[in-house]
Formats: sequence, structure tokens, C-alpha cells
Amino acid sequence: MTSMILRKGYSMSKSKVIVYDTNKQDMKSIIEDVFVNFPQDVKGKKVLIKPNMLGPFEVERGVTTNPVLIEALVDYLIDCGANIIVGDNPGGQGGGVIAAAKKSGIYQASKGHFENIGTACQLFPMNSRFVKEINVSDAVLDCDILIDLPRFKTHAYAGISGSIKNMFGIVVGPGKAKLHFATPKPDDFHELLVDLYQVRVPDLVIMDGIYAMEGMGPTTGNLKKIDKVLASTDGVALDATMARMMGFDIELIRHILVANERNLGVYKEEDIELVGDASKIEGFELPISYSAEVKATAPKMAGVLDLYKLSTTVPNFCKPENCVKCGECAKSCPVGAITMDPYPVINRKKCISCYCCAELCLRECFEYIDGTQVFETLFSKLQ
Ligand code: SF4
Ligand code: SF4
Repeated sequence: MTSMILRKGYSMSKSKVIVYDTNKQDMKSIIEDVFVNFPQDVKGKKVLIKPNMLGPFEVERGVTTNPVLIEALVDYLIDCGANIIVGDNPGGQGGGVIAAAKKSGIYQASKGHFENIGTACQLFPMNSRFVKEINVSDAVLDCDILIDLPRFKTHAYAGISGSIKNMFGIVVGPGKAKLHFATPKPDDFHELLVDLYQVRVPDLVIMDGIYAMEGMGPTTGNLKKIDKVLASTDGVALDATMARMMGFDIELIRHILVANERNLGVYKEEDIELVGDASKIEGFELPISYSAEVKATAPKMAGVLDLYKLSTTVPNFCKPENCVKCGECAKSCPVGAITMDPYPVINRKKCISCYCCAELCLRECFEYIDGTQVFETLFSKLQ
């Protein structure tokens, strides 16, 4: 099989992004309106619904796609005669995929259509600087229509966790750790995200923004009720819209720029036809790893931090009182930097600051600290 690069021609016309207000419209009518504006011929077709199901997080945590949105979409597609599968490959699988789906309410919202899509997969050749092939779920490669359901969230490492980042979930389970290992620098990780997005560009993106996650997403940020659902057939334009609403400088979200360079979507305001209220959210907290202060420090510290493979922001185990010693953080570490003794201990010389440990700890045992402080501690030990 040759690598499938699905290119969409976005250069000739504007991409439409609709921002719905869930206070003014119920979810059923929002979904109906989405399909009026972005028609999909779903009757008799294999439709894969790809939520953000990062792990076994309760719906109240706002980490995973809201079941209210999934249920309304499932109902609509069943009425239209589509053959649907709801599925994801979560990074955190404590208790298994089905248990994670049940805990997040996604299983129940899928009304018998949830599948563990990680059980049937195939090696897929990649056009990528970082990886030659990846294990991709058959459900992703075989579907006629793919509907991407990301969350409106920040991401400590990638800046945002939107449409493009949600497609990281096409990679089956443990393969994700290898990909982090292959891209220890953030810029490389951004490029890899686009490599993965290109494997199967979604046909439609519907983003759950009922609660936004600000700060250090995608699991440990704070929730902010904004009552939005965003929709588009251009995931790049949708991600750019979310990033602007959050208050990001788009130039910092490299995967958006790379996706645009590859003609996968548009990001400039003049290229997007916006419908609805996409105003900047006042006081929205960006990840500290993307703060203006840290970005200003980064070039100065780049040499020394690179030497120790440290980022300007690094995770730190800080809550032994919460820790149940499950070892999930150690298992998720792509470079084996965590040993359990009896609590997790991070080897700073090995750590590549991918934040997987902090993301996948269900007990919020990690904080994020300034990497330069860690460097100073390491340096003082060497003297
Ligand atoms: S820090 Fe979290 S993931 Fe790691 S062992 Fe403790 S509870 Fe488990
Ligand atoms: S210790 Fe945590 S942040 Fe560091 S490489 Fe391992 S998983 Fe990533």
C-alpha cells in the first residue's frame, strides 16, 4: 500500500467555520444545522466518529468529548441510515478501552456503536521525517466518512488540542510513546502531528466547546464554561479559530502553519468565513509553556536546556498524598525516565518533557515547573 496523502484544495475559496451557542440552540438542532451547512452523504456509508477519549476520565473532568454532543450526532446519523462506529485509541488505558469509554460516558452515548478500534489495525507507510510506518486502526483507513470530535482545550506541549491533535488517536495504543520518542523537540512534534493528520484528513469536524479547558491542558487545566460548538470541514481553519478565541498568537502553533503549508486548510482571518460569535475569551489562561515570558526565555536558554533535553517547562511529581502507585505515568513515559520508588521519580537527564506522565495521571499528581530551575539544580550538583 502506498502512503495515502489526502490533499484538499483550500487555496481558491474561504473555509467556513460556524460557532454555535449552546445556550441559544439545543444540541439536536445544532447537529442538524451542521449537516445543512456541511452536507455529507452518509446513507449506507461507513462513518467513523472519532471523539477525544484520552483515557478513563470522568465526564466532569472535561478531558474527553462531551457525551451530549456524541449522543446527538449518533441519533442523527442513525436516522440518516449511516453505518456508524464510535471509537478512539486512548493513550491512557488503565482498565481497558471499554472501561475508559464507560467512565467518560462515551460508551453510553454511542448507543451500542462503540468499538475498541485498536484491536484491528495495520502497518501504514508514512511520508514523515520521523517515522517510516505506524499502526493505524482499520476503522480509520476503511471508513467512507470520518467525523472528528475534538475538545476545546489547551495542550501544554502542542499549545492546543484541537482537530489536528485529535487525529493523534489514529495511532494504536503503545505506538504513541514511540512517536514522542522520535520527536523530542516541540517543533518536530508539531510537524509529526500534521504527518498523522494527513493519513486521514477528517471530512467534518465538530468541536465540543461546552466547557473550554484553559491553562495546562489537556488533562490538568481548569474548566471554563463557554457554551460553544464549532464546526467546519476545514480542521485547520477550525483550530485557528479556537486558538484565536483562546488568545494565542497563531504563529506559535506550528502545526497549524505546517498544515497550511501543505494545503490542508487555511488559518488567516481573511481566508475564513466566520459565522457566529468567535470573540476572544476574556482572561483565558494559556499554558505556561506558551506564555510570552517563557517564549522570551526560550531562545536564551535553548543551548543549556537542549544539553539536558529540558524544556522551559517540565513536569514534577508533587502530590504523594494523591498517588495510588498505579505506575501508569511510568508506563506512559516514552524514554523510560520514570522509576517507581515507591512513588514516581523522574530522571531529568532522560526526560524529554513530553508531559505524557502528567497528562495520563488520573490523580493529578504532577505540577509543571520552570525547566530553568531544574537546570540550575542539576548544574549545582555538578559543581
Ligand atoms: S503519579 Fe499518578 S499515574 Fe503515577 S503512580 Fe501515582 S497515581 Fe499513578
Ligand atoms: S518523565 Fe514525563 S515528561 Fe519526561 S519524558 Fe517521561 S513522560 Fe515525558
